[in-house]
Amino acid sequence: MIFDDWRSWTLSKNDALLIAGPCSAENPDQLSTVAEHLQKLGVSIMRAGVWKPRTRPNSFEGKGIEALKWLQELKQRIPIKVATEVASPQHAEAAIKYGMDVLWIGARTTVNPFLVQEIANTLKGIDVPILVKNPINPELALWQGAIERIYNTGNKKVAAIHRGFSSYQKSKFRNTPSWQIALELKSTFPSLPLICDPSHIAGNRHMIFEISQKALDLGYDGLMIETHPNPDEALSDADQQVSLQGLSDTLDQLRFAQRHSSDALFISQLEQLREKIDQIDQELVEILSMRKQLIEKIGDYKKENNVTVFQLERWNEILNSRTDWGQSKNLSAKFIQEIYRAIHDESIRIQTEIMRKETEKK
Ligand code: PEP
Ligand code: MN
Repeated sequence: MIFDDWRSWTLSKNDALLIAGPCSAENPDQLSTVAEHLQKLGVSIMRAGVWKPRTRPNSFEGKGIEALKWLQELKQRIPIKVATEVASPQHAEAAIKYGMDVLWIGARTTVNPFLVQEIANTLKGIDVPILVKNPINPELALWQGAIERIYNTGNKKVAAIHRGFSSYQKSKFRNTPSWQIALELKSTFPSLPLICDPSHIAGNRHMIFEISQKALDLGYDGLMIETHPNPDEALSDADQQVSLQGLSDTLDQLRFAQRHSSDALFISQLEQLREKIDQIDQELVEILSMRKQLIEKIGDYKKENNVTVFQLERWNEILNSRTDWGQSKNLSAKFIQEIYRAIHDESIRIQTEIMRKETEKK
């Protein structure tokens, strides 16, 4: 795995890549207090933002170069790796100059291919891991593109951070997670480590545990958790940062599932179950193909009789009856409805195609 070499020094307990630390570097004492605590917990990377992207001007915008100097000085006293956000080529240059070990590209930067390219060019040839947060909007291609721009410079020490997506709909999250988009990213780049940032997803400290656990259960490689010695007094993101004790409790309670097991019994039972699943999936595909043949017959029949493809009453009847059947078998209504929407969309597509072909012939 391309990531193995730098993963070895970032591995914390339980094989997870743990990063914690304040949203912003505020003063040298704050940084030392956090770093000492992380060292005790075995968390080997501390995060600290020094340039803060703020929605409105006149909020705390970070301590910039001054804070980089604090971090550089702290690294001489405490053996910890430090990660910071870079949002421009100038940031990237300064972060390297002051010895930052890991850089991340924030959500507001990932949306901008020009900027990502400039940062990638600036860092070309420098051996530094770069973590790429998802863009603000739920667009897989933008996230992929930012990662490719860095890969293309020859740097393979890249990981992705899922920090949720902005949404105009009311939600219990500050930034709604799309576990699906993040897993699709992982399937395009199978060796790309995936880290979850529960802090920016939640927007409050009460949901950090639940979101982190969900990410670990989905096989995420690590977590980035905003942590502050006195969260209520934090100069940025006060609501979502956990206290030092809060971080210890969260890490204690999290269940870090093993990705693989070498237990022979477990492996053979898993294989048997997977064989059964394969068989059932083959039958499912067979049945979908039989259904498709019927759809084609119906399409021809509607065409001969000059009847429209979409029939609202029939669609309502399908949706309701299948939902009821599903519920009697303990399958959630949402799940059945999603499946039937996909099946019905495909059926409409096939029938429309039949109609179109016929019209073209005429
Ligand atoms: C941060 O990590 O403090 C930050 C600003 O993150 P994001 O880019 O996810 O908003
Ligand atoms: Mn923050």
